[in-house]
Amino acid sequence: MNPFTIPRRRFLQRVGAAMAGGTLAPMVLGADQKKKQNEAHKGDQKMAFTLPNLPYEPNALEPYIDEATMRVHHGGHHKAYVDNLNKALEKYPDWQSKSLEDILKNINSVPEEIRTAVNNNAGGHSNHSIFWPLMAPAGKGGGGEPTGELADAIRSTFGDFAKFKAALTDAGLKRFGSGWAWLSLDRNGKLIVESFANQDSPFSKGYYPVLGVDVWEHAYYLKYQNKRGDYLNAWWNVVNWTEAANRFKKGQA
Ligand code: MN
Repeated sequence: MNPFTIPRRRFLQRVGAAMAGGTLAPMVLGADQKKKQNEAHKGDQKMAFTLPNLPYEPNALEPYIDEATMRVHHGGHHKAYVDNLNKALEKYPDWQSKSLEDILKNINSVPEEIRTAVNNNAGGHSNHSIFWPLMAPAGKGGGGEPTGELADAIRSTFGDFAKFKAALTDAGLKRFGSGWAWLSLDRNGKLIVESFANQDSPFSKGYYPVLGVDVWEHAYYLKYQNKRGDYLNAWWNVVNWTEAANRFKKGQA
């Protein structure tokens, strides 16, 4: 049918439908537009940072960490850090190809116009990527106490496990506003407990993170509301000490 024999509005509707289906795209895209589309696609592929899958089902940490919190925390909050990091680095391909650890260790060399965004979002991406495997279902890899070299190092630094547990819990409780409490290896390879604000990463302080706990309200508010202490006490039941020991070893290498 000749398009000029049907009312203009109906014709446009048909064109719209064809475009939505993609069938008209090769006809309407000029060479420049095609080039742009290809470049955009190439950009997508080069986006170095992607959301890692959770190493367990979102309900696996129940009742200590609830499923609803896990879903929004991972699929909402963590995903936003990944997306915003990719966006911040859009015009900086050299930085896209670096690891999160390298970016954060060299945060002061990141171009000033994106430094805050990168600190927040590379920090957020790194912290959460470290956090998920540091938890496991209670009684199935989660909870209990560390063994081996990490246990020895904790004893020699803090006196005993109970004192270390109190120190990390206290660091999390005393963090005003949002942040994390971390057990890290410091520049001299010694264990240290410290809390950092927002998404500041231990890497950017010259530390190597061994075990950390997220004390942003988004990590606990749905189940624990204002009771951060209850969340922290519950969290110890899902700590994956095997993963913490692996990190401890890796940080010393
Ligand atoms: Mn979080």
